[in-house]
Amino acid sequence: MQIDHDALIVGAGGAGLWAALELRKAGVDAAVLTKLYPTRSHTGAAQGGVCAALGNQEEDSWEWHMFDTVKGGDYLTDQNAAEVLAREAIETVIELEHMGLPFNRTPDGRIDQRRFGGHTRNFGEGPVRRSCFAADRTGHMILQTLYQQCIKHGVRFYDEYQVVDLLTEGGDLGAGGRAAGAVAVRIADGEIHSLRAKAVLLATGGFGRMFRITSNAWSLTGDGVALAWRHGVPMQDMEFYQFHPTGIVGIGILLSEAARGEGGYLLNDSGERFMEHYAPTLMELAPRDMVCRAIHQEIRAGRGVDGKDWVHLDVRHLGRKVIEEKLPDITDFARVYQGVEPLTEPVPIQPTAHYAMGGIPTDINARVVRDELNSVVPGLYAAGECACVSVHGANRLGTNSLVDLLVFGRRAGRQMAADIGGVGRPEVASDAQDPVRAELAAIRGRVAGESAAQIRVQLANVMMDDVGVYRDATTLTRAIGRIRALRARHERVCVQDKGRTYNTDLLEAWELGYLIDCAETTAVAALARRESRGAHAREDFPERDDVNFLRHSLAYQSPGSRPTLRYKDVVVTRFQPKPRTY
Ligand SMILES: Cc1cc2nc3c(=O)[nH]c(=O)nc-3n(C[C@H](O)[C@H](O)[C@H](O)COP(=O)(O)OP(=O)(O)OC[C@H]3O[C@@H](n4cnc5c(N)ncnc54)[C@H](O)[C@@H]3O)c2cc1C
Repeated sequence: MQIDHDALIVGAGGAGLWAALELRKAGVDAAVLTKLYPTRSHTGAAQGGVCAALGNQEEDSWEWHMFDTVKGGDYLTDQNAAEVLAREAIETVIELEHMGLPFNRTPDGRIDQRRFGGHTRNFGEGPVRRSCFAADRTGHMILQTLYQQCIKHGVRFYDEYQVVDLLTEGGDLGAGGRAAGAVAVRIADGEIHSLRAKAVLLATGGFGRMFRITSNAWSLTGDGVALAWRHGVPMQDMEFYQFHPTGIVGIGILLSEAARGEGGYLLNDSGERFMEHYAPTLMELAPRDMVCRAIHQEIRAGRGVDGKDWVHLDVRHLGRKVIEEKLPDITDFARVYQGVEPLTEPVPIQPTAHYAMGGIPTDINARVVRDELNSVVPGLYAAGECACVSVHGANRLGTNSLVDLLVFGRRAGRQMAADIGGVGRPEVASDAQDPVRAELAAIRGRVAGESAAQIRVQLANVMMDDVGVYRDATTLTRAIGRIRALRARHERVCVQDKGRTYNTDLLEAWELGYLIDCAETTAVAALARRESRGAHAREDFPERDDVNFLRHSLAYQSPGSRPTLRYKDVVVTRFQPKPRTY
């Protein structure tokens, strides 16, 4: 079936929803396609907060926020983007408040704010209260608030439609063609639909599922990033993948940094607050890349709890009132998933794969760009975790993702509304959906072959073991070989469910292809970056090298699916790179 809309948004997380809302406010016919029910998007799992320099309890300024974002990103952050983020954070959070978001309040009725890693006063002097929150359910409240507004403004939703290809007009996206819509499987009955549009926004979230231990939902498989890549758009800065220090041991479910923002400690086997050796000023509130490396070093030195590969998060001294009012969900997670009572016991934690700094390259108005000259891909936009603006550089600060969704989701909607004006309905070949239809039919029709579930587990193990917090040339070279072998096996993947109704077996086998694309580019870009910066820690190149590597990587698909790399300059405006200490 063929459906037409003016603007098509793939993804109903915070970024997609705010863009849709903005489009509707401008009177544009906007539709959202989502493989999950909108309120199940991962934004709803975000816990700790959304930052904005409101200065409600302590003096704060957007310039300090911008500086922290740049330094937190180890100077790979594009500073024009960081400035937009820090300035517009303030008005978007207030706009959310006016939409009705139930933020925690100070006694005098303002939005309450707490501390978070790497957010400082006066360019690094000490921690500042910048994170606005609704207990430890901030993302849930943002998602519900935005969804409500979208319904109110008449956004058309296609729930449980999984996009499996992009439509283009006038050639591929890497060669000057324009985005013209998407091909989607309606999950309920397996029917394939073409949706044409004058403007397409990718807001499909991250790809943490390429790692074994991750905080990310099962559905976070890098769909938008890989789809754009297959049509000639590069993946930017893929070597920078963030691990979050405090995941539940073994399963990776997140215990928000809010626990440390409220004053929680990290303790090694002897009960020592070991962060004083690594970041004496900010201690537990150092940026995540540093805290993860500190935990690994403690474990390597035999100071993990009982000599094992975890340490303790301790919130006991915060008292029942703070824990129950500000950290209710995460303390429940510890009870339910670990059988630990945080009121009386320290909680075992270890780093968990959490956030993709890299993704689809865009400019500050969410327009996708395809090369080092920032040539715009007409009709294509990206926002949220799947996009790389690049506002987080080599390492994102906590609470800076939710605000990225708000600021750049809103900008995406506005830009799309402005661009759509002079554009006619795209012409799309009638057989445009044939290749993907044939590929899906081939997987379903195969009677014998490889199991997607097994390949997925092996991929996640390779990434965790060889492309994790620390990497070097040996582990990365080994990983690339193994990922390529898994890719070859994936070409023979087969599924047990041969039906059409809710065939998640088939769709997961399809998603695995995206994960493989993201994993291979990550490992290839990581091998080529012979320095350590932010979340990319090379044991064989432990120093940052601004002379050779103060630049973004762009990984292109080349024949045989192998990524080739090019590089793009970092935008430096106010803050020259300096050594990064906390
Ligand atoms: C547990 C957890 C806690 C976090 N806490 C915080 C926090 O406190 N503060 C903070 O700033 N950040 C936090 N983050 C990060 C932040 O929540 C995410 O980066 C952000 O929510 C991503 O939003 P998004 O709009 O880009 O995508 P998501 O919210 O991930 O939504 C993706 C959407 O894309 C759709 N989609 C994907 N693929 C397809 C496809 N093929 N076809 C159709 N639809 C598709 C999905 O259905 C979904 O609607 C946290 C992340 C996690 C995992």
